[in-house]
Amino acid sequence: MKKHNFNAGPSVLPREVIEKTAQAVLDFNGSGLSILEISHRAKDFQPIVDEAIALFKELLEIPEGYSVIFLGGGASLQFCMIPFNLFEKKAAYLNTGVWASKAMKEAKAFGETIEVASSKDANYTFVPKDYVIPTDADYFHITTNNTIYGTELFTDIDSPVPLIADMSSDIFSRPLDVSKYGMIYGGAQKNLAPAGLAFVIIKDELLGKVSRHIPSMLNYKTHIDNGSMFNTPPVLPIYSAMENLRWIKAQGGLVAIEKNNIAKADLLYNEIDRNKMFVGTAAKEDRSRMNICFVMAPEYQALEADFQKLANERGMVGIKGHRSVGGFRASTYNALPIESVQALVQCMQDFEKLY
Ligand SMILES: *Cc1c(COP(=O)(O)O)cnc(C)c1O
Repeated sequence: MKKHNFNAGPSVLPREVIEKTAQAVLDFNGSGLSILEISHRAKDFQPIVDEAIALFKELLEIPEGYSVIFLGGGASLQFCMIPFNLFEKKAAYLNTGVWASKAMKEAKAFGETIEVASSKDANYTFVPKDYVIPTDADYFHITTNNTIYGTELFTDIDSPVPLIADMSSDIFSRPLDVSKYGMIYGGAQKNLAPAGLAFVIIKDELLGKVSRHIPSMLNYKTHIDNGSMFNTPPVLPIYSAMENLRWIKAQGGLVAIEKNNIAKADLLYNEIDRNKMFVGTAAKEDRSRMNICFVMAPEYQALEADFQKLANERGMVGIKGHRSVGGFRASTYNALPIESVQALVQCMQDFEKLY
């Protein structure tokens, strides 16, 4: 049976990217060797890294003065690399979820860390908007898409201090104004590549300003100066990322990708709002296009397991909500075809007809 992959992460990738990756595992570039058994410094591999970085710059229209690097350790390692490299006196964080608060926790070990606003008391169902960014902070950290709660910030905000964004789960989902950011980073496994890879886009002029010693592996400068090859990078995920970026470009780039993401999200939110059995959990103006969270309406609460069962029978995978929100979460990343959303909507409509 056809599966509809709504997993939150690791998650759906374009079929084409998976096939190309599988091919490279069997025989990389007709070399008679697998990509798994060649050096990251092999002459055939360098063009893969170069093309991945070039496509980052092209698709996101990254201005001059920024570096793009690939690292291991996921987004979570960045939570501590950021203060190591950029925290001198004070940092500011917007608390919009568990990932945001984990990032903030690491900064606290380095000194004064200001939480400018938080939606924790409302179980992170919205993105706070009224707050003041301290102008004496070294940076201001935000999480643009809150994967667990299904809220998203769609605007590239103005910040008086360098803006740092965790875009693990919405990178490449819409065009960005990179010039508004000092740094953009994320784990690759939500919208880009298999797990094991993190990407960092950083404005070069922010580096080299802190007074502490930074261990080599945690120093962005090390990785920039060595073209992401200071040590062995996650070779296979970089290969898949490159193929995925080619795929994004072939779809028409980020303008086309965004249009498709809006169409998918509208389709599902419209059904959640129309269908008497379900309610959305995120504030309407902050509804994520990547992770769509909904629960049973109070009077139908007892039917949650029945809906889950019907969805399973129809090939829906990964729609169970995160334990801190409950209900359901359908992740609709770039690679999820609109047909999968249509199948979920059909399932919700058929379920409603049963009661
Ligand atoms: C998944 C996720 C993370 C954690 O990523 P790891 O690569 O597992 O460390 C951090 N931030 C956001 C927004 C996420 O969605």
